[in-house]
Amino acid sequence: MTKRPAGERFETLAVHAGERRPGPEGSVVFPIYQGTVYSLEPGADYHDIRYIRLNTTPTQRYLHDKLAALEGAEAAVATSSGMAAISTILLSHLKRGDHILVGDCLYGGTHDLLTRHADDLGWSFSTVDPHRPATWEAALRPSSRAFLVETITNPLMRVAALREVASFSRAHELTGIIDNTFASPVNCRPLSLGFDLVFHSATKYLNGHSDLVAGCVLGSGERIERVRRALNHYGGTLDPHAAFLLARGLKTLALRVRAQNANAAAVAGFLAAHPKVAAVNYPGLGTHPDHAVARELLAGFGGMLSLRVKGGLPAAERLLAAVRIPHIAPSLGGVETLMVRPAISSHAGLEASERERIGISEDLVRVSCGIEHPDDLIDDVRQALDHV
Ligand code: PLP
Repeated sequence: MTKRPAGERFETLAVHAGERRPGPEGSVVFPIYQGTVYSLEPGADYHDIRYIRLNTTPTQRYLHDKLAALEGAEAAVATSSGMAAISTILLSHLKRGDHILVGDCLYGGTHDLLTRHADDLGWSFSTVDPHRPATWEAALRPSSRAFLVETITNPLMRVAALREVASFSRAHELTGIIDNTFASPVNCRPLSLGFDLVFHSATKYLNGHSDLVAGCVLGSGERIERVRRALNHYGGTLDPHAAFLLARGLKTLALRVRAQNANAAAVAGFLAAHPKVAAVNYPGLGTHPDHAVARELLAGFGGMLSLRVKGGLPAAERLLAAVRIPHIAPSLGGVETLMVRPAISSHAGLEASERERIGISEDLVRVSCGIEHPDDLIDDVRQALDHV
């Protein structure tokens, strides 16, 4: 079976990259090889033995090829969750005594991993403002090894000086690591900005149907091999059945994310003009503090936005009670619109004072736009605002 090179454009890659032609038994759809173990190939190194936990079985390898093509990476490895992706990156790239720079608005799980476990593992970290390159040098230590940021942050949708993060990392021999979950490779491919490792919670946009948990790491062949070998030891492998579903989801990634971008832009524009809305955070709006940098770095502004309605927490709760189309639920990136208050979901682990300090007020509502018709979403939000 050959891995035929697909066309260059994203939509074509999404459908055809990684596909084997002809497929096994002539199948157009690459099947689920659920088997755990395969006949030994003479001379195979331990990490290349085809065994399910080593991420070397056919459906796992097929998924890796598709993922790599979509991020424009040399190689990819899938993981059992987004958290398995970031924890294995750190476990494979840091030693006891190492220090890392981290952006000051990380996903709650990543924040908890660092605040609750870094010390036990012998790592230290300094939080920096990724919008202010002039402040980074002061945080450097001789033991600094990596710089970790996110493409679009949760829940204020900030877009930092990402090119500068990548070049600063290069200049100081730090591994530049970026969580690209919120943007997806449709809106940003951070390897082209100079980052060394990109990771995703594939639970979100990459799969897009809110029905599996997975992650992935992308980068050079050498770095991904380092991550995969650590993953083989720490055990955060993705099962082939989930790998098959994720590859199926990836085929429609461009279509879904473009629809989500358009829906978020439409909803954000509507909200921004509504008299009952106090604030809208969407990088596609000219009023967003990072609009200019987002225009430069992103191919689309994403499907996520957040807002505050006038009247504080009671008004936010009335809005959530009155919407009919969105589910009131955490997570994001699926075909269905979701709304949630970050203060009781993604950022519940922070002290209230810390949340306020970083701009996550109790009444902030986050919206993950799905692929419904934009007019229906707007009509629904309009009628819900009438109840506020
Ligand atoms: N990164 C971001 C930006 C996320 O939103 C999440 C989950 O919400 C994760 C990482 C962790 O992913 P998972 O839940 O797949 O472990």
